[in-house]
Amino acid sequence: MTWSRPASNLDSPLSRGGGGTGYTGGAVPLYQDTAVINTEKLDALGAIVQRKLEGVAEAVPTVRTEAGVITLQVTKLAESQGLVSPVDPTSQDACTIGGNIAMNAGGKKAVLWGTTLDNLVSWRMVTPDAEWLEVERLNHNLGKIHEQPEVTFRLTRYAADGRTRRGEPQLLRIPGQVFRKLGLGKDVTDKFLAGLPGIQKEGCDGLITSAVFVLHRMPKHTRTVCLEFFGYDLSKAVPAIVETKNYLDGRRDVLLAGLEHLDERYVRAVNYSTKAARRERPKMVLLADIVGEMNRPWPRPPRRSCGLRMRAMPRVSSPSVPRHAGASGRTGRAPQRSPRTPTPSRSTKTW
Ligand SMILES: Cc1cc2nc3c(=O)[nH]c(=O)nc-3n(C[C@H](O)[C@H](O)[C@H](O)COP(=O)(O)OP(=O)(O)OC[C@H]3O[C@@H](n4cnc5c(N)ncnc54)[C@H](O)[C@@H]3O)c2cc1C
Repeated sequence: MTWSRPASNLDSPLSRGGGGTGYTGGAVPLYQDTAVINTEKLDALGAIVQRKLEGVAEAVPTVRTEAGVITLQVTKLAESQGLVSPVDPTSQDACTIGGNIAMNAGGKKAVLWGTTLDNLVSWRMVTPDAEWLEVERLNHNLGKIHEQPEVTFRLTRYAADGRTRRGEPQLLRIPGQVFRKLGLGKDVTDKFLAGLPGIQKEGCDGLITSAVFVLHRMPKHTRTVCLEFFGYDLSKAVPAIVETKNYLDGRRDVLLAGLEHLDERYVRAVNYSTKAARRERPKMVLLADIVGEMNRPWPRPPRRSCGLRMRAMPRVSSPSVPRHAGASGRTGRAPQRSPRTPTPSRSTKTW
């Protein structure tokens, strides 16, 4: 996408490029004379800071990152302190924070903590008229944004020097439900997104330069369960996934923290070898991260619930984070539902 009115005096359209992994081609220049802004020098990544957010009672771990930082760097920084950065698209070793915000990217952990938007505290951007805009989320629910009845953002504008305030800050109040389409999750067709600047705009309304994110704590133990789907009628897989998810939702001792699906082409491309006592490759593989405070054997999941042969097997059984990390400061018992470890959504989509 290009700006028709560039911020500079260049007589060419402008395009922003992050990691170039976006599926919509937004970073691809449309015209021969397009000037592409490379954000790779916007690479400052701050330390993890316990921050008191406006309207939130407790201080929460946060990180400030510039837009050109590779997403995996944030993930690694969080992990190094026993925390989790919830923005983890599969492309995270190549994509950037700016691209994640401009696309509202999600990943495996979206099932627990939503996509990029849900985890942003604030972000700064340069508008096409070469001024600064800071967007801050007030009364953050530290969970999925659509579960908050009304979401409030404060928009503050600054002159080109980045310090001189332009006018009074403006409050943008948006019903939480607006951010998700029922049964679909992230609605990629809704670019306007109630007028919220920067998010999901594919760079059309400005250049994102930096952002502050909330980080989370994962319960102590993670087991990755691999579900293999065989057969031809894969529409039957959906009820099986829903059944598995409902089963997990009904348990108080575990949470579904990640869900990722590999389709037939992907299974073939990575030369996946089945864990089942069968010769053929599965048609679909579903990887589910199940987390809890207790390191117990994985209970048998529902099997053959839909006419498809479904095989589940625990792949990993190890603490995902250092033992001191804890879950929301709680120890011992199961992860209780709280804003920091929210109830998994009805959607099985990860992004
Ligand atoms: C193998 C693979 C796996 C993927 N997995 C996922 C996944 O799990 N979840 C998911 O959501 N997506 C996924 N994607 C899509 C893509 O990685 C994400 O959308 C990612 O957020 C794009 O980031 P980027 O830095 O590569 O952005 P780019 O591709 O460089 O740009 C994407 C758009 O954002 C704009 N943009 C980039 N930086 C800025 C900035 N600083 N300010 C304003 N606009 C900007 C660009 O102009 C463009 O319109 C995947 C892609 C691939 C190739």
